[in-house]
Amino acid sequence: MPNFIILVVEDEDAIREMLIVVLEQAGFNVHAVSTAEEGQHFLNDTLPDLILLDWMLPNISGIEWARRLRKEPIYQELPIILLTARGEEEDKMRGFGCGIDDYMTKPFSPRELVARLRAVLRRSSKHQWLPQITAGDLTIDTEQHRLTIGDQVVEVSPTEFRLMQFFMTHPDKVFNRTQLLDQVWGRSVYIEERTVDVHIRRLRKILEIYNREDVVQTVRGFGYRFSTKKINE
Ligand code: CA
Repeated sequence: MPNFIILVVEDEDAIREMLIVVLEQAGFNVHAVSTAEEGQHFLNDTLPDLILLDWMLPNISGIEWARRLRKEPIYQELPIILLTARGEEEDKMRGFGCGIDDYMTKPFSPRELVARLRAVLRRSSKHQWLPQITAGDLTIDTEQHRLTIGDQVVEVSPTEFRLMQFFMTHPDKVFNRTQLLDQVWGRSVYIEERTVDVHIRRLRKILEIYNREDVVQTVRGFGYRFSTKKINE
């Protein structure tokens, strides 16, 4: 079972706690918050595999946040399951359709929730990215969230993983900081461009352990490139 990251956004404490227990027992890596703003904050650092989102939230509603996320290229394919109350919300939900991968009406059985979640994850991981990309002795497995060099598993944070995933799907191409921010972080909130440099530095430090820091190359005055070829500049 891959180590999927699930972001739970639910303002009712009892339900949120229940969701954490149920999802952790099912083997998911759960991060739970109570507002869309906190959810957005989490997304700045980590791209989850799925968002379990309550409709009725203080300030920004779940459905409004989902709409905003869908406008960002990086979040267009991010699976979202909406939690709704029975009645009016449920009717509106049926009409809404687009943008949401599935919805669950409260109250629901934990078992059904886990089954629906797994079904959505199975569907999404197929069209989202190639499951495995190899470049030289580096392999990235997006289903298992694993980066390997030779037969060694490399420990990287979710952001560095995402960065590597983007680089390895676009080898030998140069990207500037803005492009990397758009593609890897998304542009829902303002992030300083030097954040990219910070993560690149961290990534290189990790790769250095395996003597492979040369694959993430700086293109002076422009940005970064992933390449397994040696380039003289
Ligand atoms: Ca609520």
